Amino acid sequence: MNSLTITTAKDVGFCFGVKRAVDIAKKAAETYGKVAMLGNIVHNETVIRGLERAGVVVYTNIDDIPADMPVLFRSHGTPRSVRDRAHERGLTIIDATCPLVEEIHKASQILEKEDRTVIIIGDPGHDEVEGVASQLVDPVIIADADGARNQEPLRKAGVVVQSTQSIDNVDEIVGILITKVYDLRIINTICAPTRNRQQQLMELARQNDVMIIVGSFSSANTRRLRSISGTVNKRSYQVQGPDDIHIDWFKGASSVGISAGASTPGKIVKEVAKKIRNLAL
Ligand code: SF4
Repeated sequence: MNSLTITTAKDVGFCFGVKRAVDIAKKAAETYGKVAMLGNIVHNETVIRGLERAGVVVYTNIDDIPADMPVLFRSHGTPRSVRDRAHERGLTIIDATCPLVEEIHKASQILEKEDRTVIIIGDPGHDEVEGVASQLVDPVIIADADGARNQEPLRKAGVVVQSTQSIDNVDEIVGILITKVYDLRIINTICAPTRNRQQQLMELARQNDVMIIVGSFSSANTRRLRSISGTVNKRSYQVQGPDDIHIDWFKGASSVGISAGASTPGKIVKEVAKKIRNLAL
């Protein structure tokens, strides 16, 4: 095979919010022996298995958590009803909500206080979007351009955005909303780590023959990065780890760019780069 130049994006590995939450979870498990979590802390199976070994136990319902086990709230936020129930039950709460997600909660409440219909641009059912929606009386969730086209005209509305949304998707939705809303205020809550990653990804996708995006198929954020990459580089592939790499992808290529979702550990990204380097030998 040809020799390949491999360039890894500057920002790979956990974003600071996920890293912080994983560290808090490990520390809590050390202190308390066991710590409960509602759902998985990150969409990455390798990380989850590691946390389970450390003493983190995943539950789906707050009422199933034993009374003497502390509960950890994850980086992407927790619906208000769940928080209230944890308080009612007297559970010890360890809050690992990312400060940038808390900013979205605050921004949405500011818009509501201004008597605006709050529109959340994000994936319906995603933990973070559910968490933001739970702060509000009657929010509207819009995932894509079709959702924006179906929106009834409004006199006064405000927009907040799920932290990991793609800039292009938000741009398209907002472009439609301004034709439907008389008084529209937008607070761009895509977080800085996401914006940086998307920018680096676009540059790499333009400069390299092949793009590899590393991250779990269950991570909406990683799938989004792959799709963004695919808009400028048709040879964009998502892998969960080195075993998913196919030699055929690199036929005739001389350069490869590597990026990764915010929940992908840096170690897996390095393993993927090593596998590609070995293919080229
Ligand atoms: S993606 Fe952004 S908002 Fe979400 S946890 Fe990471 S840093 Fe925080």
